[in-house]
Amino acid sequence: MVKVYYDQDINSEVLQGKKVTIVGYGSQGHAHAQNLRDSGYEVVIGLREGKSAERAKEDGFEVKAVAEAVKDADVTMVLLPDENQPQVYVESIKENMKPNSALAFAHGFNIHFSQVVPREDVDVFLVAPKGPGHLVRRTYEEEAGVPALFGVYQDVTGKAADIAKAYAAGVGAARAGVLETSFQEETETDLFGEQAVLCGGVTSLVKSGFETLTEAGYQPEVAYFECLHELKLIVDLMYEGGLENMRYSISDTAQWGDFVSGPRVVNDETKARMKEVLTDIQDGTFAKGWILENQANRPQFNAINAAEYKHPITQVGKDLRALMPFVGESVNK
Ligand code: NAD
Ligand code: MG
Ligand code: MG
Ligand code: MG
Ligand code: MG
Ligand code: MG
Repeated sequence: MVKVYYDQDINSEVLQGKKVTIVGYGSQGHAHAQNLRDSGYEVVIGLREGKSAERAKEDGFEVKAVAEAVKDADVTMVLLPDENQPQVYVESIKENMKPNSALAFAHGFNIHFSQVVPREDVDVFLVAPKGPGHLVRRTYEEEAGVPALFGVYQDVTGKAADIAKAYAAGVGAARAGVLETSFQEETETDLFGEQAVLCGGVTSLVKSGFETLTEAGYQPEVAYFECLHELKLIVDLMYEGGLENMRYSISDTAQWGDFVSGPRVVNDETKARMKEVLTDIQDGTFAKGWILENQANRPQFNAINAAEYKHPITQVGKDLRALMPFVGESVNK
């Protein structure tokens, strides 16, 4: 089995007493910043004026303009939206970093697809938590963690991998396990996972199930509970103990249905489509489309987003969740 690093395997001395600048205070940014601070590191936030900056100040952080914040940083972690990173890097980060400091990312996209070309006199590494930022923070507070990948793209100090591992431990990931990867592997597997399985695959599966039931005349509320709400309960069982734990917990009737009907829905044809999705990621087709979409101010992204918002599953879900206050929306907490 591949080497998995835990807290006891990681020497955090390389990062002790160092200044960490987190650029951005969104989903990942607030979690990295707060977890590193609670782990004893000095953290400064680099941001433009706005809502995020206000939040960071409310949370007790020193907030500076990006160019100022990176000047004396030993590690600059870039947690801006991927599509804004190239511009902010060129305008505010590149010329302001100290030689021999480290430029870090939570996703390899911009380095791997050459949208950020790093200076040659800095370390470049990634620490990519394998979970949403809000869980990176919540699990840390619960003395647990979200696993992470680390990878080194450029090592001028000879210590880049050690700094990356110490950083991963600082955000709490080494409680759950930290694995080494490359920028290429992290970028391609992350994009594939979110497109084919975690986000794109799941939303399409849920919507198709919901539509199949409602088009057959069943109540939308029942379809919502069956195809969306209950998914969390099933996924929790998988998270805790794999497919076998989930199958142990469900009835044998459900398990038999899983065996005979699952492969009728997600089949060899689906897998062939997944391979196409992967090829588009690997050969840069997906990256090019997303970069151009942003340059055009997102006409397609916005149109699809508006149409998705009008889908009956969105509307019925709002009404039902209002009646289940305990469900809450964790991202707004
Ligand atoms: P986000 O959209 O939640 O937050 C981005 C932050 O950057 C906000 O604070 C925003 O105000 C700030 N910002 C945007 N444009 C800016 C600019 N021009 N100048 C200064 N500040 C600016 O982003 P995110 O989802 O946390 O993603 C950050 C990185 O983490 C990305 O590389 C992403 O791929 C990676 N990542 C995200 C997740 C996740 O859970 N969302 C998981 C793993 C990796
Ligand atoms: Mg987001
Ligand atoms: Mg991911
Ligand atoms: Mg991703
Ligand atoms: Mg059932
Ligand atoms: Mg069972």
